[in-house]
Amino acid sequence: WSATPSPIRRWPNAWAAFSMAKEVYASDVTRDEAEQDEHGGFFGMGEPNDGYAQYFTGRSYLKQVSAPDDPLVIHNVTFEPECRNNWHIHHAARGGGQILICVDGEGWCQLEDQPAKRMLPGDVVEVPAGVKHWHGAAKNSWFSHLAFMLPGEGMSNEWLEPVTDAEYDALMA
Ligand code: MN
Repeated sequence: WSATPSPIRRWPNAWAAFSMAKEVYASDVTRDEAEQDEHGGFFGMGEPNDGYAQYFTGRSYLKQVSAPDDPLVIHNVTFEPECRNNWHIHHAARGGGQILICVDGEGWCQLEDQPAKRMLPGDVVEVPAGVKHWHGAAKNSWFSHLAFMLPGEGMSNEWLEPVTDAEYDALMA
């Protein structure tokens, strides 16, 4: 936690940067740089999530929130509208699992054989180890959630099939 500025201290800085970006947007700020100030919430948008792009439909961004040596690994994950990750399982022999906390925008998290849960800022979903699930943005909104990987033993991620357009569009029906 020590490496992370508190939201209270960071907020005025982010707001100032956003105003500045709007002023110079047309001249020397790229579209990607401007988006970084508009999305991601308190913790920021981070970098394109290239390492996991093969397991996502659409573009996502990753910002590590925990310090490198913290035992609890926390990322802020930002999804563009309609972006979602594939069905996947966080395996663990002991402990493990994942807690998601929405910090910006609107999205969904679905555990297998359960209705998808709509997520707005402050909403929390606990994903137990071993349970197949996916998470991602709503159709018309960017979405950012903190992802806490809970400590455990024998942990691994198993990436499965994409969430089809039919499955995804059914959420809005
Ligand atoms: Mn997950």
